[in-house]
Amino acid sequence: MKKTKKQTYHNKEYYQELYDDELQRLERQWKLSIPKLTNKEWLAIFPEARPNLEVRLKEMKKEYKTLISEIEKDLKDLYEKDIKDDFSRWFCEEIIRTWKGEALNEMSKKIVGLRLLLSPEKKVVNSITNSMVEQAKQYPFENLIQVKNNFALCPFHNDKRPSFHIKDNKGRCFGCGWHGDTIQFLMDKEDLSFREAIEYLT
Ligand SMILES: [Zn+2]
Repeated sequence: MKKTKKQTYHNKEYYQELYDDELQRLERQWKLSIPKLTNKEWLAIFPEARPNLEVRLKEMKKEYKTLISEIEKDLKDLYEKDIKDDFSRWFCEEIIRTWKGEALNEMSKKIVGLRLLLSPEKKVVNSITNSMVEQAKQYPFENLIQVKNNFALCPFHNDKRPSFHIKDNKGRCFGCGWHGDTIQFLMDKEDLSFREAIEYLT
């Protein structure tokens, strides 16, 4: 029997559209049904992931150290070349900064994230005490940033020569004016909350 009436429900595209709409609706529903868990909560559900993450953290710390010594070597080579032309020197520094400096920043963020993730659960409570804050402030600045003769490369601006000065375990940058203690430093550098910074530093 031949259908002569051209009706929407005989139209293939019409059904395709209906089908697509329904699929999207199902997908939205499915997404809403996924529990919104933090990484820490996922880890509690899948504790078997912990050893792998611990291995990864160790590897990353090693990679971080390697990268730091590479940057040191690159800078040393560069300064020993005694380039007279400012532009060439700037260009070389810029290459080191972009290629390795930024990789270093990314890596340090990941390391902090992993360390927080793997830190014992008991620390995640509502009780940050004064003594924890004091302890966090005493955390050696040298462990957070590469320091030489009390100076470091400032992570808050595009620092070419170390202009970040550390005194009494507090930092001050002569370039961009940033100043603060280890807590503030970690919050600004790694984009952490006060609580996360305290957890990391204690
Ligand atoms: Zn600065």
